[in-house]
Amino acid sequence: MAKKRKRASRPKPTTCPCDTGKPYAQCCGPLHAGERTAGDAVELMRSRYSGFCLGLAEYLWRTLHTQHEAKAQGLEAYAATMKQHSAGLRYRLLRILDQRPPDAQGVAQVLFFSEIAQLKRDHSIVELSSFVEEDGELRYITGITRPASELAHGLEDLTIEHWDCAGH
Ligand SMILES: [Zn+2]
Repeated sequence: MAKKRKRASRPKPTTCPCDTGKPYAQCCGPLHAGERTAGDAVELMRSRYSGFCLGLAEYLWRTLHTQHEAKAQGLEAYAATMKQHSAGLRYRLLRILDQRPPDAQGVAQVLFFSEIAQLKRDHSIVELSSFVEEDGELRYITGITRPASELAHGLEDLTIEHWDCAGH
């Protein structure tokens, strides 16, 4: 089919890696491009996940809260560390397990499962991420990660409450 070629300045509407099933251009694409900011913690979490899938260090660094330890190292060092740590990692699946809207301190939380593989080894994790607003947008401030294989609970009924009980 000889169609006129458009300039390839925008990504094709392929499915977004964050597992919403939506085209990238209608999901995390505009967030990554800086055209808009995330409306809530789940949207930000998804966009950071797809940012990892796509290796978007600048976006990941930009959405870190200044209180996150990696923010101070600067973008260049962050990008180098990220490249090193994510070598060979395959992000296969994301599942949001639970979420909490901002509390009295403004901390919103998202609990998620991510299926990750490196070569043939399973590196799947469950993480409880916390997000706080800064400069008018939500940013990632901290995360507690555990290997999915070490969880006592099945993923089906894992909630933030269960997670809190198991951790302390
Ligand atoms: Zn997405």
